[in-house]
Parts: sequence; C-alpha cells; structure tokens
Amino acid sequence: MAGLDDRLDYVLGAKAAEPLEQHFGIRTVNDLLRHYPRKYIQGSTVLSEDDRPPQEGDHVTFVETITGVSARWTNRKPAKMYLVVNLGYREPKLTATFFNANYTKNLLAEGAKVMISGEIKKFRGDLQLTHPHFLILESPNGQEGKGSRAMVRLSAAAKDADGVTGLDAFRRDSLPIYSAAAKLQSWDIYLCVRQVLAVLDPVEDPLPDWVVRRFDLMSEDEALRAIHLAENAIERDRAIHRIRFDESVGLQWALARRRYGELSESGPAAPLKDSGVRADLLSRLPFQLTDGQLEVLDVISTELAATRPMSRMLQGEVGSGKTVVALLGMAQLVDAGYQCALLAPTEVLAEQHARSMRNMLGPLAMAGQLGGAEHATRVALLTGSMTAAQKREVREEISSGQAGIVIGTHALLQDAVEFAQLGMVVVDEQHRFGVEQRDTLRAKATGGISPHLLVMTATPIPRTIALTVYGDLAISTLRELPKGRQPITTKVIFSKVKRSWLDRAWERIREEVERGRQAYVVAPRIDEDDDARHPDDGDTDAPKDREGARQATAVLPLYERLGIRELRGLRLGLMHGKLSGEEKDAVMTAFRAGEVDVLVCTTVIEVGVDVPNATVMVVLDADWFGISQLHQLRGRIGRGEHASLCLLETKLPPTSRAGRRLEAVADTLDGFALADLDLAERREGDVLGRDQSGQGMGLRLLSLLEHREIIETARLLCDEIVADDPTLSNHPGMDRLAAHFVEHERIEYLDKS
Ligand code: ADP
Ligand code: MG
Repeated sequence: MAGLDDRLDYVLGAKAAEPLEQHFGIRTVNDLLRHYPRKYIQGSTVLSEDDRPPQEGDHVTFVETITGVSARWTNRKPAKMYLVVNLGYREPKLTATFFNANYTKNLLAEGAKVMISGEIKKFRGDLQLTHPHFLILESPNGQEGKGSRAMVRLSAAAKDADGVTGLDAFRRDSLPIYSAAAKLQSWDIYLCVRQVLAVLDPVEDPLPDWVVRRFDLMSEDEALRAIHLAENAIERDRAIHRIRFDESVGLQWALARRRYGELSESGPAAPLKDSGVRADLLSRLPFQLTDGQLEVLDVISTELAATRPMSRMLQGEVGSGKTVVALLGMAQLVDAGYQCALLAPTEVLAEQHARSMRNMLGPLAMAGQLGGAEHATRVALLTGSMTAAQKREVREEISSGQAGIVIGTHALLQDAVEFAQLGMVVVDEQHRFGVEQRDTLRAKATGGISPHLLVMTATPIPRTIALTVYGDLAISTLRELPKGRQPITTKVIFSKVKRSWLDRAWERIREEVERGRQAYVVAPRIDEDDDARHPDDGDTDAPKDREGARQATAVLPLYERLGIRELRGLRLGLMHGKLSGEEKDAVMTAFRAGEVDVLVCTTVIEVGVDVPNATVMVVLDADWFGISQLHQLRGRIGRGEHASLCLLETKLPPTSRAGRRLEAVADTLDGFALADLDLAERREGDVLGRDQSGQGMGLRLLSLLEHREIIETARLLCDEIVADDPTLSNHPGMDRLAAHFVEHERIEYLDKS
C-alpha cells in the first residue's frame, strides 16, 4: 500500500516515474494525484488545449465511432493502398488516414468505437489525422483490444493495475484528460493514476470533521479518487468542489497566518500625543476632513499605537484624499521618534507628494531652519534623476534621522539608502509595485522592528482579489469625495463616424482656457518608435486594420500639430516618460502655476497628479487604454470646484468591443463597478499575471473570477477558526493545505506597466 508522501519510483517503478518527473516535476504520489484532469471526455468529444475547436498542430485524444471506411490508392508508382476512415458525423469533417492499409483495413470496420490520439492537420477545410495511435474499444467484428502497438501495450498495462481488464480502463462513459507532453501522453498519466489509486491507503482528511459536515463536502479520500475516476458527472463535480474548497481554505489559512501570526509583537508602537507634529498638522489643515477620512484615520491611529505592525490597504476613489490621511499617520510615527518612507511610482508623483506635504506641514517640516516649529521634522525627497551629489546629501539626511518623512521613487529601494529608525512604510498606487519592492523597503528597518505598512490605491480592488491577492492586508475604503467636487461628464467620440465631434473637442478646450481653466490631451505613445501595447491584442472582433497598419497617436507629432493648428495660440506643454527629471519638473511646475494651458502628455500623468484647475481631458485613441487606466486618467480632472469634461476619442466603431468598453467607462464614475467590469473583461491570466505552469499563486482548480462564493466562505471559516485558536497552532490539516501557498510568491494584480 502507498501513502501520499511516497515516492513514485517506489510505487510505479523507475521507468514509469522518470518521465513524470522529467516533464512535470511530479515526484510523489501526492504530486501525481494533484495533477488533476484538465478535461473529461464525455462520450466522444474532440478536445484541444482550450475549449476552442481543434486547430492545425493540436494534439488531440478522443473516442469516436467509425462512420465510414474507404480504401484509396496513391498517385505515385507503384501505387499503394491507404485507408481513410470517417470519424463520427462532424462539421468540419474529421478523418484519419492509415498507410499500412493491409493491416488496418481488417481492424477498422464501420461501427467500431475507437480511441484515437494524434496531431490535427487541416486539409481543404477538413480536419485530418495522419496515422494516429488508436485502440479499438468496441468492434462489430470482434477486434476489440487491437490497435497501435503503443496503445495496445497501454491497455495491457492497465490490466495489471487494479484487476480491471485492460480495455475496461478506457471503455467508460467518461475519461479524464491530463495535461500531457509529446513523450508522456494523457493515457500514460491516466494509467499511472489508476495504478497509484489502486494501492493508495485511505487519505486522512485535512479539514476538521465539523467543517466537512457543515458544508456537506465529499471526504478528501473520496474526492481524490473521484476527481480522476468518477464516471458519474455529479460525483465528479462534488469531488472538484471539494478540492476547490481545499485550495480556497489553504490559501485563506496561509493568509491568516500572515495576518495574525509571525510578526505579532515587533511593531513600532507610536501612541497618540496631545502635542506634536500630528496635533499641529490637524489644526492647520486648510480644510475639514470628511467623515470617511476621520473614520479611517481613527482605525489607523489605533493600529499605529499598537506593537503589532499594521498591514493595511487604503483604497479610495481618485481624489478622495488619501494623501492627507497617510500624512497624519506618518506624523504620528514622527512624534514617536520614528521615520517614515513613502514610495511613489513616478518622479512626478514623488515630487508632488513632497511639495504638497511640505506645504501642508509648513513650519512643521522646517526643522533646523528659520521659522521651524518646535517639534518640527524634515521632508526629504529622493528620485533617480537627482545628481549623485544631491542623492548623497539626501541619503545623509535619511541615515542621520534628520528627515522624519522620506519620499521617493524606486531610488529609495537601493542598498545605499539607510534609515536611522524606520517605523512606517507607505506605498502609493500600490498596483504599480510588486510585493518584493514593498518588502525591500520594509526590511530597511533596524533593531528587529517590523514597520507599519500602509498601501494606498485608487484602483478599486474587486472583492475576490482583496480576499486573495491582498488577503494579508486589512482594507479601509474611502468612498466619499471631499465636499464641493463637481461631477465629471464623460463622452466617447467615435471620430470615424463623426469627424466634427473631434473638432468640437478642441473648441471645448479653447472655451475652458478662455475661462481660465486648463486641459490635458493624452495619447498612447511618445513618438513613432514607441510601441505601446494595445490592451485588446487578440481581441477577435477588432477591425483588421489594427494589425500593423493602424498606429496610435504619438505625443511628439501631436504636440507640434496642435501648436500650429487646432490649439494654435494656446500655451502648450509637453510631458512624457523620456524627458529628464528636470524637464518634467519644469513642465509640471509651469502647468501647476497656470503658465501652461494645455498639457499634451502620455499616461505619465495617470497616477496621482493633482492640478485642481484642470477641467478638460481629451484622450486620443482611448481604446489603447484599459478600463482602470482610463478611470485613473479621468481622475486627473474634476479635482476642483469646476465641472469637468472628459472626452474619449477612438477610431473604432461603436459596435466594437473597445467601443463598448469606452461607453461603459463613460457611463459611470464608480470605480468599483469599473474594476469588476475590468476583471470580467480580461482573461484571468492577463489580470493576474499567472504563468502557464500553474505556478503563480499555486491555484489549480480555484478561479478568482469564478469562485467568489467559495473564497468568501473559506475566509469566514478561517476567521472563525482563528477566533477559537488564536495561535493557529491546533490545525495541522489546515497547515498542510496552506503549506502549498506559503511557498509561492503572490501574484500581482493588474498592470505592472
Ligand atoms: P487621492 O486619494 O486621489 O490620492 P489626494 O490625496 O491627492 O487624492 O487628494 C486630492 C485633493 O483633495 C488634494 O488637493 C487634497 O489636498 C484635497 N483634499 C483632501 N482631503 C480634503 C478634504 N477633506 N476637503 C477638501 N479637500 C481635500
Ligand atoms: Mg493619490
């Protein structure tokens, strides 16, 4: 008998085990049984890799009835006979060709049921298999069990496994199909699985009894067998459900360990003080905090005061005022003698944060300077484009502890940056960073401290993603915008349909500028050499002209053209990623100061840029952007007291998928609704960056898009168990389920552009 941890070479013999390890890294009984079927043949389906119909070059395996047999002769001399066999009544027609006709013609009679395996070729619209492997399962003339040598050998091998006669292993209503390799076919794997299951000891259930009963689950032992061998679809579905449930619980238990476990007592406690930077900052804010901000702040201050490090995500619509909340949190740490680091995805944004935080802090940020307040600190800025000398100076300010608040881009992550007493890490626009980057920064703390972590995002996270990808973070949400904000109207301009609408857009910009407002014109590319990737690549209903011929607007030529034509006479600024730090800075400063009327730019302004006087945005070739990206872009306007207008231009027709996507963005300002739509629109692989090998998060049967209910159930269940077992130490079965996820890096959500 065998257990899950036994090695396969021991159970199956080295010869059978070796290819499993070589092709799939399968080493143990457990590894093999977790190589779940990818599909099941029900009756006679021809299966290709996905659900799509088979294509030229696909390797397929299926069971089918022979509906016609004809002998033909080759043209060449001497002519040779070959056999063409029709398989089923299919559209397009499916045939198999055999050249050793003398042998096969006696075997392959009309009415025989055969298992076939081979590579698809297309010929005049029909699908063909040339010399496929076959095994006769049923035969009108007594030929069952015969077929290609390899498959006959297979069926003979099956006989030894578990007492089932060889053919019966295949002669069933349903057959599992496994991810296979050319040298290791689905059938080989199937037979290994049968052989292993025949000797497998009963499997212990990783879930507590009461859980299995409460959720009416199939037992682990039954499920592990049925997922491979059940013939009955209902039983099989129960098995799949059970294993999905396991995955979900395993993942949630791993996340619970991160939330409740390890780090528990190593956080820098920063109790609230009556006087200090935080208190003074509160009293000098130029506006009243919204109720939402106050609520979130309350939660955050409590957590910052505790010795358990905070791990929190603050999500809120663009413009909801997350920055000031983060700043007040950082001030609390500064008052307790700690330093804080704020990581921003772009230089423009880091700059802006430094400027606005210094502004809000005023004398509180002027330690050691004339006019500095009593408990003042300093705000340091570190970006990649600074000169070496400037960087050195800033690093000195950081390592000496003079700078209480350190703001920067990726430059902050470098080894040379050392903190005297890091107590809190803030990551702005979280989706632009990977987990490793966040952890790198956190690791700069000294003295065994785990800094508090606050990550902020304006890209709303759909609930299943929040519970999984970000499941180790607690989540706060700012839904309300500060009072007095004017709504943004969004319109789609289908410029191929109505050219004049685009002209009207330029007029609108002029009108706004005349009223003293400012505008953004956004395009996908910098110059002709810049190949922006289209979000719709592979979108089958996209017009043909997309391929190669169609080029997205580039800002360099656009800037030239607008200056002499459509927007002649207005003061234009140019902004894109290839400018130097100084150039970017100069343009942003001019735009902020109102010295530039229209900023012609790429998506460098996508995140965080805050110029409340800007009220119009025209996005050219808007179909080049994803839903969340457009929502972010649009968030650059509507930040002040004036009504704003966002115009999304596309050359695609309204009926295209991209056209509909743009209409959806125009229809709502609700970032959460758009995030759900975004998630539904894209294939899971795109959203989650999960790699082909099923690594990534390590999920096999659980889909974050489809199994929200199971995910939520598992989350609640784990919380319930933790409440009873706060040290998480009495559930070895759950630990086993979780182990798989602890090893894997988490997948990243959304674009990493
Ligand atoms: P986001 O959440 O998108 O990062 P910001 O933090 O940049 O938004 O805030 C957007 C603007 O709103 C900033 O100019 C900020 O000073 C302002 N703001 C923040 N909170 C309030 C408030 N309670 N009342 C008025 N304006 C506010
Ligand atoms: Mg922001």
